[in-house]
Amino acid sequence: MNTDKIMSADAAHIMHTYGRLPVVPSHGKSATLFDIEGKKYIDFTSGIGVNSLGFADKGWCDAVTSQAEKFAHVSNYYYCETASLLAEKLTALTGLKKVFFANSGAEANEGAIKLARKYSFDKYGAGRHTVITLTDSFHGRTVTTLSATGQDKFHNYFFPFTDGFRFSPANDIDALKAAVDDTVCAIMMEPIQGEGGVNIVKDDFVKAVKDICDEKDILLIFDEVQTGVSRTGKFLASQYFCVDADIVTLAKGLGGGLPIGAFLAGSKCAETLCPGDHGSTFGGNPVSCAAACEVVDRLSGEEAMNEILEKGKYISDAVRSFGLSSVVEVRGKGLMIGIQVNCDPKLCLTEAVKNGLLILTAGKDVVRLLPPLTITFPEIDEGLTILKKILTSTGEEK
Ligand SMILES: *Cc1c(COP(=O)(O)O)cnc(C)c1O
Repeated sequence: MNTDKIMSADAAHIMHTYGRLPVVPSHGKSATLFDIEGKKYIDFTSGIGVNSLGFADKGWCDAVTSQAEKFAHVSNYYYCETASLLAEKLTALTGLKKVFFANSGAEANEGAIKLARKYSFDKYGAGRHTVITLTDSFHGRTVTTLSATGQDKFHNYFFPFTDGFRFSPANDIDALKAAVDDTVCAIMMEPIQGEGGVNIVKDDFVKAVKDICDEKDILLIFDEVQTGVSRTGKFLASQYFCVDADIVTLAKGLGGGLPIGAFLAGSKCAETLCPGDHGSTFGGNPVSCAAACEVVDRLSGEEAMNEILEKGKYISDAVRSFGLSSVVEVRGKGLMIGIQVNCDPKLCLTEAVKNGLLILTAGKDVVRLLPPLTITFPEIDEGLTILKKILTSTGEEK
């Protein structure tokens, strides 16, 4: 099928829930993608922070094929070597005690919410079920994680939503204190809000939240679905805060392109979920876990972290040095970068694709970059040249 045929088959048979860009990928390597017409794109997106090792990474492909050739699935009634290995690595890297494997970010967050509510129910009985999340947060697309998402545009059509969520603005400790009452069992936040606009949550705010949590036995949950697995230059972005979380959720970059999500629990609540309390048919899929082991092995060492920080700084500095009037601010950590623009970020995105660069948007006015963590410097330079061109021309058009 050619590009037009594939696009019309999609339009005819796939529900129109995504505003797709007119690109039909053929194959890729590292951060370079080719479409079926042979056009080349530099990838500053990793999907949406998923392909942490880039396209067709040799070690990743070997890990995946080697497990697929043995067996792809048996069911969670049996043990799984790759899941155990992955769990061992994740607990060692995070300091948390136990993990549950799911298939996506939303599922990981659902599980984290269930865990927090059961922890509270076991200790205090019914009625202590409220989860506070932050304004402009994003936690997923299931009915419950939509409820948890602090953006009004996600609270339409699908009524009734799950009860028991309350929103408070990031970095406003007085507002948060006012939102806490005897019904609260957990406070959940992204260390850097991804979809909401690459908004950095401040250190002193998180420390103050942690104090409230300790004082009232409220669980602190970090949604690291986007920020986790070395994206920001630490294995968890919340490790920048130096506070211990009770629950951390992961997904996007963990499998390097295969679906996997996880929630990890610290000593307080690692034993809360018992047989029958939670489960997933596909959760902890052996092939996904083998992929994730490779991702974690390759991206959790000091050398990898330094490289991520170095590349992040290189890109951010370069964008600042463009000196363009369309760029308001460049922010983020590691290879999670937000470029606040005063032109339409959606227009930047379509222009970028035309010029052979894949980028993302976030919030109302942010161009978001989440390149593969293994992107090469020549690829970065190639991408930056295109980025400068499109930020210059769309800036002029506004
Ligand atoms: C993407 C994302 C989710 C949802 O993950 P899915 O895999 O799409 O369900 C949840 N939280 C954050 C912070 C995300 O970025």
